[in-house]
Amino acid sequence: MKLQKRCWHCRLLLLPIALLLLTCIFSCVQFIEYEYAELEVERYEQAQVLPVAAVSDYVIAVREFLGAAPTGAPTAPWEFYHYNAARSDAIGALRALPDTRDASCTARPYHLAAQRARVSIIIAFHNEARSALLRTVMTLYHRTPRRYLHELILIDDCSADVDLLPAMLNLKLPPFMRNSSTPQSPTTPTTNYASLHSSLNASNSAPTSQPQVTIKTARNTRRLGVIASRNRGARLVTGDYLLFLDSHCEVNVGWLEPLLERLAIGAVAVSPVLDSINAESLEYAASSKNLMGGFDWNLHFHWIPRTQSTQSQPQRRDQYNQQQQQQQQKQPAFGELSSETAYLQQFSWARRRFSEARIRRDTNSAATAFKSPTFAGGIFMISREWFFKLNGFNPLLETWGGESIEFSIKLWLCGGQIEIVPCSRVGHIFRKQHPFRFPNGSDSQTTYLRNSKIIAESWLDAYKYFFYASKPAAKRIAINSNDTEQSHQLRRALNCQPFSWYLQNVFPQLKLPNDDFIAFGALSSGELCLHISNHATGQLHMTSCFQNDVTHWYLHRQNSQLQASSGACLHVVADVPKRATPLSNATRSTHFRVVLRPCVDQDVGERGHNQKQTPSQRWLRRGGLLVHQQTQLCLDNPLSDVVVVSHCRNAAPSQLFRFAMELQRL
Ligand code: UDP
Ligand code: MN
Repeated sequence: MKLQKRCWHCRLLLLPIALLLLTCIFSCVQFIEYEYAELEVERYEQAQVLPVAAVSDYVIAVREFLGAAPTGAPTAPWEFYHYNAARSDAIGALRALPDTRDASCTARPYHLAAQRARVSIIIAFHNEARSALLRTVMTLYHRTPRRYLHELILIDDCSADVDLLPAMLNLKLPPFMRNSSTPQSPTTPTTNYASLHSSLNASNSAPTSQPQVTIKTARNTRRLGVIASRNRGARLVTGDYLLFLDSHCEVNVGWLEPLLERLAIGAVAVSPVLDSINAESLEYAASSKNLMGGFDWNLHFHWIPRTQSTQSQPQRRDQYNQQQQQQQQKQPAFGELSSETAYLQQFSWARRRFSEARIRRDTNSAATAFKSPTFAGGIFMISREWFFKLNGFNPLLETWGGESIEFSIKLWLCGGQIEIVPCSRVGHIFRKQHPFRFPNGSDSQTTYLRNSKIIAESWLDAYKYFFYASKPAAKRIAINSNDTEQSHQLRRALNCQPFSWYLQNVFPQLKLPNDDFIAFGALSSGELCLHISNHATGQLHMTSCFQNDVTHWYLHRQNSQLQASSGACLHVVADVPKRATPLSNATRSTHFRVVLRPCVDQDVGERGHNQKQTPSQRWLRRGGLLVHQQTQLCLDNPLSDVVVVSHCRNAAPSQLFRFAMELQRL
């Protein structure tokens, strides 16, 4: 009985010991995890935007800066800026913003690299309202932990307001007044900003003794456009990461840490969610965290819902190649970040696995980073190493347009990846129209089309025909091999994937127009292509596939018509030859001729029975053969430039035809 009682005490003692042991084990696992990941945990601190308006010196300095009549001040501000510049001026340099993040973003720690990342921010601007640019800079300064904010690079792309940059640098406000890497004494007599400075900094807990942000500025003496200007800015970078921002943004609280966390665990390029600042009211509103960046076959940017993601997780190239052979591997859902995420350039698999698992535990799924085919607008962060490895923005693209789509495609194809991070919020004024002119007498459409053509010719392989099918006007735009050679060299040097990989693994939502066509593009047999040499007479012959404007053909899925880009259809007519021709017996004995005729409307509906109406225009794909359904004869190029129909012969090379785009297996 006594023994039993003692044991009862023992059990009582055992319970706390067991609990203690469990706690120890749990802490050890955590410690090992963080040790292993070599990441630091950064606790998010709720940033406060202080009532700046109360600080008189601050207000006066800003008012002076905004009020100084800029050279070339616009008489019609709306037309000039395409947003409400008066409202922007009234808001001033800094305002409180609604916290648009998911609640879980503020309640969790961020895992940042032990080695401090130095972030260089590049802002190229052309004709920006002073207040909008100032607010962009001020929000960056006040809502970015100083230890990461390495430098601000402002590139004035030949704005009418030539005094803007000098006036900004003369502002008696941080970060401008101490624009050097050496800390300045807080007892500067010019202003009592020291107290303001430290109180504003309470938001990011950066001690005032920390090095100041360096501001680098440059002005283009001639308009270069955003693409060349951003490249110019990038060349001035000395930090580890480049962050490209428009000049009418407001970064929101805690915007940087979530981006840095993703980069620290191996993401290659990251984008915040772009909250919307209304162009008229300048109201700040949350944007959906369920949208990713995409584009259509016109190469126009679109937001697309990420829930539509159906296909596989991007894979490592070796896995992809293996899968090409095996084809049966089932991949995790695209958009979901798995621990097996690809392309870990600087980080071990194990490190990624540990930290990724940790983050997943901490994060509400609505706040989890997700992969995106392109960046959210042109606002993204990438390591300097990756940016220059990819040769920056393609310098052959002009002024504005397509550069971030191009950069996204090349990033994915050449081993990188893009993530959108919903816990990071940056406001951007979305304008309905370009406020600026396009240089060299061009307009936005022509410039965009030319840029798109360069992108299509550089990266889309045979899928470029989808682009041309959507934008036939692009065919007439002259570009030469120099415009694409650099990209082709880069593709070879970095052993980049073909565009088909991007479609399969990154952007399966970009549907091929193969609902309409079985195949399309130039139609070749050997070295020669089927071409309409005379549209008036409908004369057909085989010609060099390298001939400019060689005819493109479209084999329709629904009605089996083989239609030329000019609109006419390939047709077979009975024709008994009067004289012997140099053709083979087999060819001659058919008594049929291939001609071009207006396409007969075969749509089902009005008259029904479409199958029987125009059998002479129906072509079937049988292996590499093009079989005329009614006669069961094959398209043939028996000699030189002649094209006929003849009896189908197994694997006869003269009957093997190939479209530039085959959309079904032959
Ligand atoms: N920009 C520039 N040079 C130009 C056109 C635009 O530096 O020739 C700047 C512009 O001031 C802005 C950024 O490039 O900071 C992106 O332009 P915009 O905001 O018009 O593009 P969107 O946001 O409509 O894509
Ligand atoms: Mn913009």
